[in-house]
Amino acid sequence: MLPENYHCHTHLCGHATGTVDDYILTAIKSGISELGFSDHAPIPLPFREGITMDPGTVEHYIGLITEKKGEYSGRLQIRLGFEVDYPLWGEFDEGYFEDRRIDYLIGSCHFIDEWPFDHPAFVNEFDKRDIDEVYSDYYSILETLVDSGLFDIVGHFDLVKKFGHRPKKDHGAAVERIVKKISRKNMSVEINTSGLLKPVGEMYPSHDIFKIFFENNVPITLGTDCHSPELVDYGLQDAVRMIKKAGYVKVSGYSSRKRYDIAL
Ligand SMILES: [Zn+2]
Ligand SMILES: [Zn+2]
Repeated sequence: MLPENYHCHTHLCGHATGTVDDYILTAIKSGISELGFSDHAPIPLPFREGITMDPGTVEHYIGLITEKKGEYSGRLQIRLGFEVDYPLWGEFDEGYFEDRRIDYLIGSCHFIDEWPFDHPAFVNEFDKRDIDEVYSDYYSILETLVDSGLFDIVGHFDLVKKFGHRPKKDHGAAVERIVKKISRKNMSVEINTSGLLKPVGEMYPSHDIFKIFFENNVPITLGTDCHSPELVDYGLQDAVRMIKKAGYVKVSGYSSRKRYDIAL
C-alpha cells in the first residue's frame, strides 16, 4: 500500500488532463490510501491564464471534490486542498483559510516578483540573472510564506532547481533557518516526486535538504504533483522507501486543517 498522494491537480486549473474520476480510479488501482486534491487557487490576471483556476470556479471545485468524497467513501479517503501561490496575489479569498470544508492548504512559490520561474516559456530569464540572487530571492519568499502561518504544507521546497540551474554559493544557512521555522510551526513539508521528470531529474527536495528535514523532525507529506491521471502514483514507491530508510515511521494527513499521522 502507498500511504498517500497529497498533491494532485485537476482539469480546472487549465493545464491538467483527465477527469477527477480518472485520478481517483487510478489511485485506487495503485493502492493509494489517501488522495488529496490540491488544485491551483486563483491568482490575478494576467498571470492566471492557463496556470490557475479562476475565482468563479472555486465553488465548483469544492463541490465536486466534496461530492467525490462521498461517492468513493469506503474505497478511497479523498481530501480537499488547494495549492496556493504565495504571495497571494490578492485574489485568493482570505475566507478560504477559515473554510472548514477545506482539509489543507499547500503554500507554494512559483513566482519571483512577476517572473514565473518554473514555467518552461520563461526559462531564458535564468540566463539574464545572477543565479545566487535567484536562489536567495526564492528562499526569502519561501521564508515569508512559512512566517505567514497561513499554510499547512510547504510545497516543493527547492523548486527553483527545476531546470537544472545550480547555485554557485552555499544556501544551506537559509534552508536550515526555514526548516527550523517549519518545525517550530508544526507545519509539514512535502516530498514531491515530480522533479524526477524535469530537467533536474531529482525529487523536491534534494537528498541534502531531506536530511535537514529529518534532523529537525519535520513532518512530511508525499505528493506526485500529477497533472495527468497516469502519474498519480509516479515515484511514490521510491519516496516511501527513501523516507523509511531515513527513519520516518509516519506521514501527515489533514482533515479540516487539522494534522494527523498516517503510519507507514
Ligand atoms: Zn506547484
Ligand atoms: Zn502542483
